[in-house]
Amino acid sequence: MFQLFLPLNFLGFIYREIKASMANIERMFELLDEQPAVPDDGNNTLNIQQAEVEFREVGFAYANGRTVLNNLNLTLPAGQTLAVVGSSGAGKSTLTKLLFRFYDPQQGGIYIDGQDIRSIPQQQLRAALGIVPQDTVLFNDTLRNNLLYARPDATEDELQQVVRMAHLETLVQQNPAGLETVVGERGLKLSGGEKQRIAIARMLLKRPAIMVFDEATSSLDSTTERGIMAAIREVSAGRTALIIAHRLSTIVDADCIAVMEQGQVTERGTHAELLAAHGRYAQLWQAQQSERQVPVTGEPKDA
Ligand code: ATP
Repeated sequence: MFQLFLPLNFLGFIYREIKASMANIERMFELLDEQPAVPDDGNNTLNIQQAEVEFREVGFAYANGRTVLNNLNLTLPAGQTLAVVGSSGAGKSTLTKLLFRFYDPQQGGIYIDGQDIRSIPQQQLRAALGIVPQDTVLFNDTLRNNLLYARPDATEDELQQVVRMAHLETLVQQNPAGLETVVGERGLKLSGGEKQRIAIARMLLKRPAIMVFDEATSSLDSTTERGIMAAIREVSAGRTALIIAHRLSTIVDADCIAVMEQGQVTERGTHAELLAAHGRYAQLWQAQQSERQVPVTGEPKDA
């Protein structure tokens, strides 16, 4: 009886673990809003030289019909950080979903170093891209495994290096079990800022050719926000990076800023150039500055 019980017990354990990780994967797809309906029939080999990304004459509508992107042209220059800003609903996050091919545009195309991303197998495309999403999914597992999930064969040295670069050392040192501390719903709960640092560390381990940061819309307190942005600046220096920005204060240093309105890019330049142009960016900047000056009863919590 005991001989039977042990394997059954073990199978039960495996089943529970698989169920837990399935739930996590489902949640991750939910967070990414994924409906993987695009055909994965490209068979060209992705050949990255500079890692320049071009959205060329892109037209896109979700299934409900309203046009979200309308003949949009946008180039992400190789080795530079481009920030995309615009009012809520302008289509900023949709750019990311198209780049990862959760959807395909109905018009135009997206090119990496001149190669249409539809002609490349999904697995190769996603290996070239890394994202720090708005809400990072943590597995009910150790910090170490949560990081290694990005690249299971990373060495101990590489792991320690990304912990330093993503400024996770304090978190690791504060907990007696260090990297073996269990995090997630059944372990240590991490703040929004800490979760973003984990996402940054994962991206560093993965070392993708193109990095995407979908800025958290949830309020991080201003100190945490500054810390995260400094870490992002550090890791994206000299690499192709796209920042989807919801708060302008975080992207003033970007190499280039593109303003989106009604599914098109209407302005482009540095923070100083766009302010001097007195256009939509300058308006958005003014509006966010006044919001910041409104007295608040308490600093938003880094939840
Ligand atoms: P925010 O700054 O508020 O995040 P955004 O500029 O990133 O906005 P998107 O999330 O790209 O905007 O959304 C653009 C438009 O597409 C919005 O009108 C939104 O309601 C709609 N939309 C987004 N996702 C979907 C979806 N999965 N199905 C249908 N419509 C969607």
